[in-house]
Amino acid sequence: MSNSPAPEDSGARPVSPGVIDGDGDVEGSLRPRSLRDFVGQPKVREQLDLVLSGAKQRGAAPDHILLSGPPGLGKTSLAMIIASELGTSLRLTSGPALERPGDLAAMLSNLVEGDVLFIDEIHRISRPAEEMLYLAMEDFRVDVVVGKGPGATSIPLEIAPFTLVGATTRSGALTGPLRDRFGFTAHMDFYDAGELQRILLRSAQILGVRLKEDASAEIARRSRGTPRIANRLLRRVRDYADVRADGVVTIEVARAALSVYDVDDLGLDRLDRAVLLALVKSFNGGPVGAATLAVAVGEEPATVEEVCEPYLVRAGMLARTPRGRVATAAAWEHLGLVPPPDTTVAGIAVRERAEPASLFDAGEL
Ligand code: ADP
Repeated sequence: MSNSPAPEDSGARPVSPGVIDGDGDVEGSLRPRSLRDFVGQPKVREQLDLVLSGAKQRGAAPDHILLSGPPGLGKTSLAMIIASELGTSLRLTSGPALERPGDLAAMLSNLVEGDVLFIDEIHRISRPAEEMLYLAMEDFRVDVVVGKGPGATSIPLEIAPFTLVGATTRSGALTGPLRDRFGFTAHMDFYDAGELQRILLRSAQILGVRLKEDASAEIARRSRGTPRIANRLLRRVRDYADVRADGVVTIEVARAALSVYDVDDLGLDRLDRAVLLALVKSFNGGPVGAATLAVAVGEEPATVEEVCEPYLVRAGMLARTPRGRVATAAAWEHLGLVPPPDTTVAGIAVRERAEPASLFDAGEL
């Protein structure tokens, strides 16, 4: 289990996949309300549809569901959709909020039959709360310990049958016993540009933004495969269109606005580029351990690992190897640099070095 802090972004990065100030209210209005509204992730949608329809046909609560994938891809939205498709209520909490088992017991004992309990960042739940969750998930029962020391007694407490929906950005950090108790796991992947464009056009309609087709394609391409970022860039571009143009988001307006916010051609921002620059300049392309790389850019390791890296890997700029992070030829080229000859052109650099790039590397990965 990981005790690493939540990935937090420094400042309000427009391309942060995490929630930043002001996102909450607007996000609520842009959330898809049904599986039909939910764009992309066709495999997940089909599988989930079967799980939910089967449960509805049998008149029983569906199995517990685990949603895994990087932030901003629609896990919370899916949890809300699950509850609404089942016609039940959704209770929301998060792993870090369940520090003491008593907090979880209180939450569980308030559930009504059929409720969906959503635990975000479930990999960060404390061990005692996790153990309580095992029994709750399996037998719809919790043992509440009253008192301390030898006089402590455990009182069994029945809870209403419910469906747990867990979300995690790090499914690898989940313990085996917890993972095994989910009947269905959905792996969410980054969205392609076409899907993001559909999301943008839908959001523009809801927000009343006059968004041209080619501008939507441009924003989609630079949204790091993430709907939350696409929606946020749309709002920043709208500001620009309102203040410096005539309110219509044309491709020229979109490009000018994105350059004001330092979002480059691939959707990478300052922090992404700082990570790549540190990797190629300070560590000559790696391999270098994740923690060392984070120190080099002055960020929390969790931010670099969970926020920057997944997309850099996906974009073919960075490879995670057993010996550390390695810049690919594409990364050097994106920074306008010439890759060393032993970096493979295909992108995945597998250079081996006699020594680690830094003393801190040993055993970091
Ligand atoms: P996560 O829980 O994975 O961080 P959210 O469910 O909070 O992500 O999604 C963030 C925002 O992105 C939502 O408010 C919604 O507007 C948008 N979004 C996410 N997935 C989709 C989708 N498949 N279709 C349309 N909009 C989406």
